[in-house]
Amino acid sequence: MKPPTLRPDIRSQTRDELSALLAAWGEPPFRAPQVLSWLYAWRVASWDAMTNLPRPLRHRLASHFQLHPLTLERCQGAPGQTRKFLWRLADGAHIESVLIPANPALYAEPSDRLTLCVSTQVGCAFGCKFCASGLHGWKRNLGPDEIVEQVLAAERWLAANASSQTPSLRPSPPRRRIDNLVVMGMGEPLANYDALSKALAILNAPWGGAIGARHITVSTCGLAPQIRRFAEESPQFRLAISLHGATDAIRNRLMPVNRKYPLSELISACEHYLARKGRMISLEYILIDGVNDGLDQAHPLAALARRLRAKINLIPCNPVHGLPWRRPAPPAQTAFLHALKKAGVTATLRIEKGDNIDAACGQLRLQAEAAHPAD
Ligand code: SAH
Repeated sequence: MKPPTLRPDIRSQTRDELSALLAAWGEPPFRAPQVLSWLYAWRVASWDAMTNLPRPLRHRLASHFQLHPLTLERCQGAPGQTRKFLWRLADGAHIESVLIPANPALYAEPSDRLTLCVSTQVGCAFGCKFCASGLHGWKRNLGPDEIVEQVLAAERWLAANASSQTPSLRPSPPRRRIDNLVVMGMGEPLANYDALSKALAILNAPWGGAIGARHITVSTCGLAPQIRRFAEESPQFRLAISLHGATDAIRNRLMPVNRKYPLSELISACEHYLARKGRMISLEYILIDGVNDGLDQAHPLAALARRLRAKINLIPCNPVHGLPWRRPAPPAQTAFLHALKKAGVTATLRIEKGDNIDAACGQLRLQAEAAHPAD
């Protein structure tokens, strides 16, 4: 669990909650929009920066709420390429976010802007055999503010590192850069459902992160009951399934969660999502040499994708230190892709952008914690 703090972080508050509180304090109705503009348009990280708020109100807010920025511990990557951030949280735990330059045909419509991949938990309880995030188990859930702050902190970093700043006479909020969000970092988002749901509401709201619902994708290892619940959320968030095996035999070998929710249950939950939302699901399939990349697997995978009217994202597996899995050679990757296309499904093979910076989930955190073990 997140360690109990006396004061919630202000980034865990919706506009309605904040407005109600400020009204109860006798503040005029324009105060809540002012505070929200400082938080989400200006992305300030201190109360003192909220210069048009009366000082007593700033003090009152500060005694009621925390405003903890994430601390950037490490940033890997080069300009114009994938950047990986290792953040330190207020309690010293580490999480990662990954900033990905435009990649058309991945999760949302073609875009010339930026996608941020965010974490939802410290560690992970699901123990997928190829994934670094779960190697040391689950530590705690992130609060909604810690999910939201990953976007704000990455945008602060972008603003500070922008190559050319256009000077303007009238001060205006810094330009928003991140317009795609994938919840595919460390942790299982649907196992931290309430915090995820609140964070996405804030990131999606016009007064908050203002990221369109169709540009927000949540990825799950396959928690069937929570997929059904997710199907009832009103915004049109997208869903990606980390499938990685098209048969129970292979999925059981790679993903322990499949023993709890086997393919039949997972598929039926996806069908429910499809019926409720009518939105195309993405199936993530990491290609692992000699495990799930045989052409015999392309047929059940294509059949599944056809049944769900889903598209398939093939991802050559990232090697993780200490794990035996390797990615297939490029001709085998392409052969698998062609077999899927021949079977009539939409499939893409991800051009690797993160291998050289250890972008497979959880790797930076493990390195940091090996160097400075958490107390
Ligand atoms: N728990 C969620 C989100 C986190 S994992 C989920 O399972 O979807 C995010 C994605 O990274 C998943 O598709 C996961 O399978 C993939 N991933 C994890 N380890 C990887 C590796 N070594 N190489 C490539 N992709 C990996």
